[in-house]
Amino acid sequence: MLTDYHLHLRPDGAESAAAEFFTAANVERYLDAAREAGVEELGVSEHVYRFRQALDVWRHPFWVEQATDDLDSYCEFVRSTPLRLGIEADFIPGAEDRIRNLLEARDFDFVVGSVHFVGDVAVDDPDYDAWGTGGDPDSVWRTFFDFMAEAARSGLFDILAHPDLVKVWGPERPGPDRDPRFYYEPLVEAIAETGIAVEVSTAGLRKPVGELYPSRAFAEMCVDAGASFALSSDAHMPEHVGYEYELAVKLLDDLGVGEICVFDRRERRMEPLG
Ligand SMILES: [Zn+2]
Ligand SMILES: [Zn+2]
Repeated sequence: MLTDYHLHLRPDGAESAAAEFFTAANVERYLDAAREAGVEELGVSEHVYRFRQALDVWRHPFWVEQATDDLDSYCEFVRSTPLRLGIEADFIPGAEDRIRNLLEARDFDFVVGSVHFVGDVAVDDPDYDAWGTGGDPDSVWRTFFDFMAEAARSGLFDILAHPDLVKVWGPERPGPDRDPRFYYEPLVEAIAETGIAVEVSTAGLRKPVGELYPSRAFAEMCVDAGASFALSSDAHMPEHVGYEYELAVKLLDDLGVGEICVFDRRERRMEPLG
């Protein structure tokens, strides 16, 4: 089986209005693309910060600007389609209880947990650039993976999204000098302890870094730690559903991973991959 559990029905940015993209016709485009790509299970995971209810969790200026839609209307809409209902929820340290309240009040099939912001700055947004404020690469990388480890241990999420997103800029931002495995280590430990699913995402192939999330070295460490994997494209348009999945499947094959995670009302089961 192939799944795509981390996708968005619209491009990022406050100008992509819910009314325009949360429509049966748009979902049909994603389902067509999934059929084309041989992806059987499709789940949508809109960014939590696009919804007004997220402002109970965090009031970063970026969230305040983005939080225009109603979360319950989104859930209701997705339930009217064949898509699995998910959400991409940011991990905000210190806001665990507020995140839990928001998530538990809805019947998601799965929750994708991600770290974009390390404090008030982001690893993937030039407007809040984590490197732009004199942040040195060692501290950006360390903080990112510490937050991810906390996210895994929080028990809030089913899947860890783009687990090494911090590398997104590739050569466009300075990287740390050390072997990256040094940074992965605390997160891999948290993954081993909690059993949270690790996302293999082809989105990184469309970004300056030009490689899968996670890197091969990271994926190897996850496999050694007994991790389970979920498969995603992080599509923001139908054309990206199942994007470059051959590469993701090959990586998992090479590492001897034969099963992927499938979710239903936050229950996980394993299905043969491919
Ligand atoms: Zn993300
Ligand atoms: Zn996403």
